[in-house]
Amino acid sequence: MQISAQITQFHGVGTPFEVCDAPVTAIKDNILVRVSLSTICGSDLHTVSGRRGAETPCILGHEIVGTIATPTPLRSASGEALHEGDRITWSLTTACGTCDYCVNRNLPQKCETMFKYGHARSEGATAHSGGFATHILLRPGTAIYHIPEAMTDEEAAPINCALATVVNGLTTIGTHAGETAVIHGAGMLGIYAACYLREKEYENVAIVDTNEHRLQTAKRFGATHTFNPNKTPVSDIDAALKELTDGRGADLGVEVSGVTIGIPNLITWLAIGGRCLTLGYVYPNADISVDAHQIVTKCVTLRGVHNYHHTALGASLRFVEENRTRYPFAELIGKTYQLGDINTAFEDAMRQEAIRIAIAPSLER
Ligand SMILES: [Zn+2]
Ligand SMILES: [Zn+2]
Repeated sequence: MQISAQITQFHGVGTPFEVCDAPVTAIKDNILVRVSLSTICGSDLHTVSGRRGAETPCILGHEIVGTIATPTPLRSASGEALHEGDRITWSLTTACGTCDYCVNRNLPQKCETMFKYGHARSEGATAHSGGFATHILLRPGTAIYHIPEAMTDEEAAPINCALATVVNGLTTIGTHAGETAVIHGAGMLGIYAACYLREKEYENVAIVDTNEHRLQTAKRFGATHTFNPNKTPVSDIDAALKELTDGRGADLGVEVSGVTIGIPNLITWLAIGGRCLTLGYVYPNADISVDAHQIVTKCVTLRGVHNYHHTALGASLRFVEENRTRYPFAELIGKTYQLGDINTAFEDAMRQEAIRIAIAPSLER
């Protein structure tokens, strides 16, 4: 059965998105989903600005929520039946469950045959693979989760990339109640990290960004201290963090700004035995210059995490469900645009005034 659908195609840097009709057919073993809302992630902006490459044409968008459009025999990640009309979100990547990364290395997000939504050349069998479209086809090996009834699409959409990445990273590096953390970058990941660490009973959650508006937002999401490096020199931030920690420095650093001064700053601010998590460098050639003597003499752990283990998505949904009355997650979404206005939506997102800009696809033009 063919269903009428619309997609948007990214053709390369400097070329406007093309909005076109692209009927979709439900394929056996795939799940056809009608997209309700997709948010523009920082990595979509990296692709559109040419900071990182993409095979074109490509349907961008990977922070997605939608409803199942056709009956399916498949089940959710927690084993529940899936029905037409169910509101779902799903893992950014597929995993085969049998390769070395899946079985032995606990890195299914780096599966040998991994497929990543919103990042693939969209042609033939790989068409309808991104969120900036009315429909998307979910492939075998995707971990699918029901969205709790009370949760809005706005609260749910960015969980699928930003929060799940943060939760996977922080779970991997480990969190301990009573510690002091410093987060470099107050975008979506930094704000999620702030409230997550507060709920893990961190005593101090400092956040660093040059954007005052974002620092103010971070305060509403649990940040206890904010620093703007344009106003406060790195050495003064170091002194302030040491004052909070009896002269030790921060226990945990979280790099989510993607700027190359991030890791060097965090290494400077960390205590002896400190841990540094880096999630932000999702574009190539992010060369950093760091005094490695500090890493050795302070016995620092440096850990990168890319994509996320699909179980982190389940944990992230539970986190928002439990804390949605404590933090105004939906307010992190600025304006919502229709699919036909995708070029305006990206111009808006590039201004970085809102933490996230959304696109709500519909067949209306
Ligand atoms: Zn993303
Ligand atoms: Zn695999």
